[in-house]
Amino acid sequence: MLGCMRSAFSRTYPLLLSRCKVRATAAVMATERPQVVFVLGGPGAGKGTQCEKIVKEFGFVHLSAGDLLRQERDSGSENGDLIESCMKNGLIVPVEITIALLGKAMERIGAKKFLIDGFPRNEDNLDGWEREMTEDKCDVKFVLFFDCPEDVCIERAIKRAESSGAMARSDDNLESLKKRFRTYTSHTMPIIERYEKKGMVRKVSGVPPPDEVFEEVKKVLKDL
Ligand code: UDP
Ligand code: MG
Repeated sequence: MLGCMRSAFSRTYPLLLSRCKVRATAAVMATERPQVVFVLGGPGAGKGTQCEKIVKEFGFVHLSAGDLLRQERDSGSENGDLIESCMKNGLIVPVEITIALLGKAMERIGAKKFLIDGFPRNEDNLDGWEREMTEDKCDVKFVLFFDCPEDVCIERAIKRAESSGAMARSDDNLESLKKRFRTYTSHTMPIIERYEKKGMVRKVSGVPPPDEVFEEVKKVLKDL
């Protein structure tokens, strides 16, 4: 009976019904699409350290683009050599590789809130993100930007390498770090400035000790 009434209704008002459907779908997507916070800053600015703290206190899932690329490189992938050579030279891996890894991880984990650490790093990254992750798929809230000068960043990364011994990253040496910082200044800063113009940057100084930095981070994240 109800079905019969429904089909009579849809014969009479097909356009209205389809409009309702579109609105209902949009509403579902608006509530279900995951929130994303991009985390940017120079190498050694404290992105990874702060992300760990955010995960514990705010229930985000942390995806480090660099870690995903290192796993891909170590998995015996055909892109392994390209990834390693980009990393050593402080260059940015073509976005097709990075976005596929990020997209797969987001789909597999299916969380509501993601911290995407170390991405987007350049124009190519941003274009790739906007191409693949259209607004109906993700809701980018803002960029959490850790501002930290080169000398502090490099000293920290060198210390990190010394304390990790044989496990040290192949790009945590003075030569690679200088190249990484140059890439950050010339390619990543313009991306941060682009988001800044849209009012989407939350800047926190990465210089103080981690717990102090986190107090500032909390102020930024509590509004989400
Ligand atoms: N990388 C990249 N694309 C990304 C993230 C990382 O090409 O989206 C490469 C790049 O060569 C970078 C390296 O991976 O220098 C290390 O990145 P990670 O974010 O792990 O370093 P961090 O900035 O945290 O020290
Ligand atoms: Mg990192």
